[in-house]
Amino acid sequence: MFETIQGHQTITKHLANEIDSQQVSHAYLFSGIDGIGKKKTAREFAKALLCQDRESPGCGHCSVCLQIEHENYPDVKIIGPKAGVDSIKISQVREMISELAIKPYSGDWRINIIDGAEKMTPEAQNSLLKSLEEPLSYNIFILVTSHPQSILPTIRSRCQSYHFQPLSMVEMEAAFFEQGEFEKQAVTEAVRAAGGSPGMALYLLNNGEIQKERTHYLRELYSLLKGDEIKIFTLAEVLSKDKATSQEMLEFFIHWFYEVNLLLEGHPLPQQGEPNPAHRAYHQLLENEKNQAIIKTLFEMMATIQYNVNLRLQWEKCFIKIMKIQKG
Ligand SMILES: [Zn+2]
Repeated sequence: MFETIQGHQTITKHLANEIDSQQVSHAYLFSGIDGIGKKKTAREFAKALLCQDRESPGCGHCSVCLQIEHENYPDVKIIGPKAGVDSIKISQVREMISELAIKPYSGDWRINIIDGAEKMTPEAQNSLLKSLEEPLSYNIFILVTSHPQSILPTIRSRCQSYHFQPLSMVEMEAAFFEQGEFEKQAVTEAVRAAGGSPGMALYLLNNGEIQKERTHYLRELYSLLKGDEIKIFTLAEVLSKDKATSQEMLEFFIHWFYEVNLLLEGHPLPQQGEPNPAHRAYHQLLENEKNQAIIKTLFEMMATIQYNVNLRLQWEKCFIKIMKIQKG
């Protein structure tokens, strides 16, 4: 567990120990500068607690882990300021609280993550306080914040606190080099510009080469959805290079169609993201039900490639199915 977290070993070791020894707390406060990995750690913690793979919990590939990653798993609630609003409203906290008494949908826990917890209005903080004072056995709260001093002392004192330190340039570089995903020169430049925040460094890196490549694949897939059958085979060929590539692109596509789904349902994109031209094109092209059927097909593909299969053939089948869905 926690393999994907850069740095913060002391914290992740503590959390892993708590899981192993079944001494998980009911409330946590994760503090530290933006983009440093607090929310990611909260998500990984949830995965480790709820993962279907009990041999290596937090596997990242089972349907529970993937749904948590896409903030779509019923037992992991995440709230934060809504797009264009600078505070977490009492109604959002009340909605979270109203579900606390419901037993978890499948696992042993319900995890309630409040991202940007300092942005809770005083009323929202007060209504949360009561739930922290009388916790129900299966609920866990994780408050994620870059300004812990703006949170009521009475709330802070009920949480187990973990302060995330900025990473050194050496640590960040080492972590990115180990992943081997980016050019060394690009990593050094991004790390230098990121002020100890791996999230920022990753953002800078992603908006370079990888972003270009993914935009290209989205264009290809768009042509496929418009009926260009050749793309079934050309895409299947490049994406089936190896299992890691297939897995990564599947995760990307699933994430992508989830975002399209948000737009189709009239919700804003997460992390204050503005729809880009590709979002708008897919939004216009797809209908809600078809989009969801495509997500389901991608999940099935994800399950299939865990076995030793002919990747190219599986991708072709997957794309044929997606094309059929779109044709209706
Ligand atoms: Zn898992």
